[in-house]
Amino acid sequence: MNETAHVVLVGYGEVGTKSSSVRAKMEGRLRENVQAVIDDRSLSGQVEREWSRIIVRDPDDPDAVADACADVPGVVWARPGVVCDPELDDIVAVCRDLAADHPAGASFAIDEDRVGPKDAHDFSGRDIARKAGSAVVDATGAPVDLDDPDRTYRVECREDAAYVSTRRVDGPGGLPLGTQGTAVALVSGGIDSPVATWEMMRRGCEIVPVYVDLGDFGGADHRARAIETVRTIARRAPNFEMNVHVVPGDEVVQRLMDTIEDTRMLSLRRVMLAIAAEVADDEHAHSIVTGESLGQKSSQTGANIAVTEAVVDYPVHRPLFTRDKTAIVADARELGTYTDSTLPVGCERVAPSFPETKASLSAVEAAEPDDLSELIAEAAQNRRVVPVRDD
Ligand code: ATP
Ligand code: MG
Repeated sequence: MNETAHVVLVGYGEVGTKSSSVRAKMEGRLRENVQAVIDDRSLSGQVEREWSRIIVRDPDDPDAVADACADVPGVVWARPGVVCDPELDDIVAVCRDLAADHPAGASFAIDEDRVGPKDAHDFSGRDIARKAGSAVVDATGAPVDLDDPDRTYRVECREDAAYVSTRRVDGPGGLPLGTQGTAVALVSGGIDSPVATWEMMRRGCEIVPVYVDLGDFGGADHRARAIETVRTIARRAPNFEMNVHVVPGDEVVQRLMDTIEDTRMLSLRRVMLAIAAEVADDEHAHSIVTGESLGQKSSQTGANIAVTEAVVDYPVHRPLFTRDKTAIVADARELGTYTDSTLPVGCERVAPSFPETKASLSAVEAAEPDDLSELIAEAAQNRRVVPVRDD
């Protein structure tokens, strides 16, 4: 057999549908982001762009590198495997080698794809399937199951190289981070907001996280949770700054408590959005993100959201708007933010006993104290930027 080497092959989806100039830019960005995650996790490997793939050469630990790649926005799948010459004998030999750790009794299939002009190879895809299949049977005695195999030997045979892999890790899909501008995300340390924030990152958005510290109505525990959840998702984008802007909200909340009764929860939401808008101005963000979901709380009814949103000129994105809590919880667990976020969020201590579910904008505005916007601007000015990384 000629020379072989371990590699990790990375596939992406929507990036591949773009015009060639946009695509080149996005592929370049994806390459950088994948390299950054590998480096940040103290793994090694050289990330290169090739055809419609990203390929990691010389991975020190191909399985761990594939797992790292599968955390990166834009990546649809990652496969640790072996590259060899595009010759039938070489491919068969690699399959036989990979069969050395074939689980006892596990059924298998060869999934081959021969790419390139007809005369690029002097063998067909069917030849690969037949010969590699018999090699695996000879080596393991394993049964073939084309419909529902326990293990798939995936062979991608191109003009200048062939790749063989037996493991696929699913990535998040979406678009490379850094290709869709910047959004301000309101993060509470609850379950929903980290998932909503990640959804925006997954679609390529850089994030400026904002936590409104409610003082005695929230507390240091909430602030720590909020920062911890951001730290967790920031690991998937180590080459982007995700420092948390912590805004002192105690004075403004106290003013709401002193002056407003029924609609104070809605005014608190409005305050948070207005604070986010101040940060968005400074950070040149195009929008605001929240973890709100239709009807989840009284402040999240359709009518009330219309009232709260009216306070800002920025679009407010709510990636979880139609999602059920059970699905959001499942996502939070997968993301690793769930255990960080099981405290009740502080604003529950602000809620009146009988919250308004169908407020009118004019009534909410009329109840708000005159100096509210000054207090909001002051709070935003006095924010502290808390790093989520050590370096
Ligand atoms: P939970 O999982 O408890 O619902 P949550 O983060 O969704 O947590 P909600 O009370 O539903 O909390 O708040 C709705 C949204 O408002 C949050 O998703 C978040 O975007 C924003 N938010 C709430 N509290 C804060 C806060 N203290 N600082 C910044 N944003 C907040
Ligand atoms: Mg919520």
